[in-house]
Amino acid sequence: EDQVRELRRTLGVKVSGALPPKPVSSFGHFGFDDQLLKSVRKAEYTQPTPIQAQAVPTALSGRDIIGIAKTGSGKTAAFIWPLLTHLMDQRELRPGDGPIGLILAPTRELSLQIYNEAKKFGKVYNINVVCCYGGGSKWEQSKALEQGCEIVVATPGRMIDMVKMKATNLRRVTFLVLDEADRMFHMGFEPQVRSICNHVRPDRQTLLFSATFKKRIERLARDILTDPVRIVQGDLN
Ligand code: ADP
Ligand code: MG
Repeated sequence: EDQVRELRRTLGVKVSGALPPKPVSSFGHFGFDDQLLKSVRKAEYTQPTPIQAQAVPTALSGRDIIGIAKTGSGKTAAFIWPLLTHLMDQRELRPGDGPIGLILAPTRELSLQIYNEAKKFGKVYNINVVCCYGGGSKWEQSKALEQGCEIVVATPGRMIDMVKMKATNLRRVTFLVLDEADRMFHMGFEPQVRSICNHVRPDRQTLLFSATFKKRIERLARDILTDPVRIVQGDLN
């Protein structure tokens, strides 16, 4: 216990919630399968970032997460790696199936960044990742979705458009990520985010990431997360 406390102190992470898993500070100890470990090694990261050290084992244990850490702290991989592991545990794809992992992000640029990370680390598994954002061709995005996929990265408004068009459905989603939740709210996406959450099965795993943690995010967290582990890295502003 003392060791765990000391490790968290060194990492600069504060953790709250019932029975949070221990942080893990080397890639070899995450319990990743060989293929994922290989693609992490290929990225030439020497060690997990502090948020990864605490969030990855927490996500792998199946818990919901509120992750608060500033930009550049490595949050993308902190949810992509557990999502890929989640997929490998249960994948069985039929043509036209909807995603198992759904990641919502505020902008086209961020969606594309996450999409590229998912492709990079998911390559060894030969999975389909589709990215949908406002301003892109609805026709192309819906065609991509209709092929079937395991992961969708999307902006909230466009995701709803795609579901309405019946290009895909959210029936298989069991792993939901809200990235940059505070920015999504600033951009006015709260109703769309809530609507999507309400259409994903309630026994899903949900990860919420944000650079700040104010009232509205706290309220959302209370509404959509189950028994979350809250991980704060650095100073809360
Ligand atoms: P955030 O979402 O917290 O703003 P990102 O996930 O975009 O941060 O990561 C920021 C940068 O750090 C990216 O270029 C990413 O490739 C890199 N990165 C992620 N994890 C590690 C790591 N463990 N070691 C070194 N660099 C990393
Ligand atoms: Mg990010």
